Amino acid sequence: MGKFKKACIKMLKKSWLLPIAYMGLDLAAVIATVGSPKIDSQEQLEQLVEEEKKELNCDKNIVPREVTCHINAMCWKTPKKDEYIIEIGIGKMNIASMKHEVYHICDGHVDAGYSFLGYWFLYEPQANFYAGFGWKL
Ligand SMILES: [Zn+2]
Repeated sequence: MGKFKKACIKMLKKSWLLPIAYMGLDLAAVIATVGSPKIDSQEQLEQLVEEEKKELNCDKNIVPREVTCHINAMCWKTPKKDEYIIEIGIGKMNIASMKHEVYHICDGHVDAGYSFLGYWFLYEPQANFYAGFGWKL
């Protein structure tokens, strides 16, 4: 086997390890959020979002809502005003979900818009790393 081919195979092995390690870390971050302390009320949710914004040096206008119509947590920007909505459903009213959504907004993920690669391989892991490990990447 030639030196170049050997070097290529060596590099390919490394480059296969990196994405696997990255996704493994992402999974570990999600697992780290299991059992996250529950948020009991709309008032507590609003207070925690304000505290999280300070932690992230973020002055965006975030309106969090506790909802019962779905179980997930999600966020988006309203079209008319510079206002960001976070909806947290019945199954996700906890600190980790709140941190995850606030991070999406404060780090500019919502403004960047949706792309499959950006969302699943950059923004979603970043929000998971923050919620699970407290990393600001
Ligand atoms: Zn997310």
